[in-house]
Amino acid sequence: MVYSKEHKMVLQSIMHEGALHENRGKELISKLFGHENTAKIINEINLKLQPLYMIIKCMNCEVTGQLYWVWASTVQDKIASFHPEFSQAELTLLRNVYSEIVTSGNGYVSSTWCLNLCSTLNIKLTKARAEEFLYEMVNKKWLTCKNGKYYMGVRSIVELLQYFKDTYQENLHSCTLCKQVLFYGEKCDQCNTTTHVHCLKNYTMNRGDLECPNCHHPISQHNHSDNSINSEMDVDEMDTEMNEVTQPSQRRSKRKRY
Ligand SMILES: [Zn+2]
Ligand SMILES: [Zn+2]
Repeated sequence: MVYSKEHKMVLQSIMHEGALHENRGKELISKLFGHENTAKIINEINLKLQPLYMIIKCMNCEVTGQLYWVWASTVQDKIASFHPEFSQAELTLLRNVYSEIVTSGNGYVSSTWCLNLCSTLNIKLTKARAEEFLYEMVNKKWLTCKNGKYYMGVRSIVELLQYFKDTYQENLHSCTLCKQVLFYGEKCDQCNTTTHVHCLKNYTMNRGDLECPNCHHPISQHNHSDNSINSEMDVDEMDTEMNEVTQPSQRRSKRKRY
């Protein structure tokens, strides 16, 4: 196997973004290698990374269903070692946001709740700084933001899974279809199981009926159509939406206006 400077450029691009959108990865590989055999290139990079205990994993965003290539350590550790650049106060905020996402039962937490944490936790963090910090976490794909709610981001799911398993064992759920740990998905009113939105979409495509894969109870159309619109969004629209929701300076200027 030849590990070329083109492989290195792909790896650097993934490392730079933390989580690279599949479409951008495909574009890059096609430009550098003249083909779109992304699985082959990722395998070749992973062989090179193996002795360094690093890996590139593919992970779907639980909210949009979009696929990302995430650069991660194969030796899973505690939160702090993944965010050496952040202060103790910021890590405390993040830990509490994670905790609420996992234990709330719906897989997300409102941005207002996050900002109110600053006063209730008695941590040295202003709301403005907390807002900036959360924006940074969304930008780097540790969290996902949609309509003023924070969800688990692809990087957290890949890199902190062991931490979540150790910390929240009883609160973790698995997807009825892919059996992977799931933080947000479509919940069945009848049997209480949860399914990834993107897994349910594939399942429905094959069967035609929108029903729970576990008990075959119909799943409400309203919830599903809301999610499927977003999973079809392209990444630029998603980024725009993310910026609209979380860009701190825009939020502040809006507040001044009204
Ligand atoms: Zn699934
Ligand atoms: Zn069910």
